[in-house]
Order: sequence, then structure tokens, then C-alpha cells
Amino acid sequence: MQKEKNKDLVHISGDWIDEFPNPLVIAGPCSAESETQMMETARRIAESSVEVSIFRAGIWKPRTKPNGFEGVGVIGLNWLKKVKEEFGIKTATEVANANHVFAALEADVDVLWIGARSTVNPFTVQEIAQALRGTDKPILVKNPVNPDLALWIGALERLLGQGIENLGVIHRGFSSYQKTKYRNTPNWQIALDFRNMFPNIPIIVDPSHICGNRMGLSEIAQEALNVGYQGAMIETHCSPEEAWSDAAQQVTPEELADIISNLKVRNTEISGYEEDMEKYRTSISDIDFQLIQLLSERMEISEKIGGIKKTNNIAIFQPDRWKVITDYARAKALETGMSESFIEKVFKAIHEESIEVQNGIMIDK
Ligand code: PEP
Ligand code: MN
Repeated sequence: MQKEKNKDLVHISGDWIDEFPNPLVIAGPCSAESETQMMETARRIAESSVEVSIFRAGIWKPRTKPNGFEGVGVIGLNWLKKVKEEFGIKTATEVANANHVFAALEADVDVLWIGARSTVNPFTVQEIAQALRGTDKPILVKNPVNPDLALWIGALERLLGQGIENLGVIHRGFSSYQKTKYRNTPNWQIALDFRNMFPNIPIIVDPSHICGNRMGLSEIAQEALNVGYQGAMIETHCSPEEAWSDAAQQVTPEELADIISNLKVRNTEISGYEEDMEKYRTSISDIDFQLIQLLSERMEISEKIGGIKKTNNIAIFQPDRWKVITDYARAKALETGMSESFIEKVFKAIHEESIEVQNGIMIDK
């Protein structure tokens, strides 16, 4: 059995990123669709006022369901080449199997990334890693779709196991069953834990796949820079509404320029305590988002119960039920080392609101 050479991600330098400005901006369409679409998007990006270092385009698209647009395939690699020749911009694409890797290397794509749906599969990652053996191109690994830090790290270890050291990660959020304002919940804490473990590995945010729409892109990109991310990958299309994939989240090159020029790059000289504060604040925002999300789900269920009470003409306030809820909350407070009276206050407020909501339903004809 062959022994892995340098298994320790902590020791890689991550200095490939130093050749790029901070933040490193990667932009381009979700998918390559035609030569015209690629050239027009690239031209407008190149002519814009902001520095985009890498042009991205998906050549092979991992679609959730069959029969959708699955990418133009190898022909799109020629268009990436043309973009590089004409505009002198580096290029990037997603690879999801060994054949993709061979074709992309052959076409001299500068940066390759492993997509979120591939990162989850160790067989796929291993196959890609082996096909990449010997390359010194930067390889970026998107977080897996599920919130599993070990799986994300495992993918990087597989690459490192094949001697690939120019590594970086892309934070694109995590899928959830509940529909929230995000297409993929950021779960900043996971990415921040990653950063704390491997401070040398460059981390880039992908606000497009986190938001799933154009609106929240600036905010997510800024939050990422606030906690020291080194770049952003933003899907950009010459006419976003007509895009063959991810139309809702793509922006025009001009909108991209607007987003990028308004980003505030953090001073890297800031003191340790400020950086720690920023990280903790981001974690708190993460938790607040989840709290609000859960409260709203709880209220929806409460409304359903209100409907049943109305139909069956049952009183809204059920003292026995209230006792069960408060007993449970108090017990949990003890278990988790929180003050019982605080938890009781919180649940009282939730319960009051719930009664209010159910009252609304009762009086509603
Ligand atoms: C993409 O970048 O277009 C893509 C498919 O992203 P993800 O792997 O994050 O879903
Ligand atoms: Mn996409």
C-alpha cells in the first residue's frame, strides 16, 4: 500500500493566492452556453472598472434533475481558451470526474474547482485527485452540500495525498430542507472553524450559490471579507434573465462592478481582538438567523393547531399543555447550564405570541 506523502494540511503555504489582488474576484457565467455569450460576458467584465482576475464558466453542469441543461461539454473549453487569449484573463471551471480533469488540463484551464455535489463523494474526489496528480494549478474545493466539516477537509486531504498543494476552498453554503431566504444557508461557523484549523488555506466566498438571488450578494460578500476571506466568486452573465442555469442569481458585468467596488477590504493589520470579535459576531448572526427561522416554523405549526382548535371549538389556552412546555424548557435550561427563569421568560413570550396568533384564527370568521 502506498503511503500518503504529506498528510498535513496545516503545513501547506496557500501562497498561490499572493499573485492575485485582495480580494481575488472570480466571475463569469454559471454555465458556458455559446461562444457569443462567453465572449460578450468576458468583454464587458474586462472593460469594467474593477479587477476580475479569473473568468469562471461551468462546462459540465451537475443538475439536480435529469433533462435539464447539463452543460455544453468540451466545446466550451475552446471558448474559455478564447477568453484567455483575447482578454488575458485566467480561467476556471468545475471538474467532476477524471475525464473532465484530463480535458480541462489539456485545454490549459488555469484553476479547477470541485463542486459541492462532488465534495460529498469520496470516490469522486479520489478519482479527481488522482487525475490531477502532478499539477501545480490552484485547485479549489467547494464545501459539501451537507454541513460536514470533516468531509470538506477529507476532500482536501485526498488532493494533498496526491501531492497537490496549491489548494483553496470555496464557501457556497449548505442545503436545508426548509426553504429560507437563502438558497444555501451560510452556516458561517463551519467555514470559520475551517479557517481556524487551516489559516493558510485561502477561503473564497460564493455569494451567488448562498443567496440564490441577486439581492443579498453584496451583504454576503462583505460579511465574508469582514471575517478575513480572501476572495469572492460571483456568477456573472451578459444577460442574466436569459441564462440557461441559475438565472435568478446571476448579475450583469456592470452590476458585478458595482458590487465589487462597494466592498470594503478589511485592514489586515487589525488587532487580534477585533478579528475575534468579528468572528464571534458572525457566529451570533448565524444563530440569530436560525432562531428566527425556527420561531417562524413554530408559529406556522401553531397556526395549524389554531385551525384545529377552531374547527373543534376548543379553548386556546390549555393549562396542561403549557405546563408540559414550561417543565420541558426548565429541565433543558438546567441541562444546558442556563438560568431557568430566563428560559421561562423566553418561552412565556413565545407562548403568548402563539396564543395571539391562534386568537387571530379563532376570530377570523
Ligand atoms: C456552480 O458553481 O455553478 C455550481 C454548480 O456550484 P455548486 O457546486 O456550489 O452547486
Ligand atoms: Mn451556478
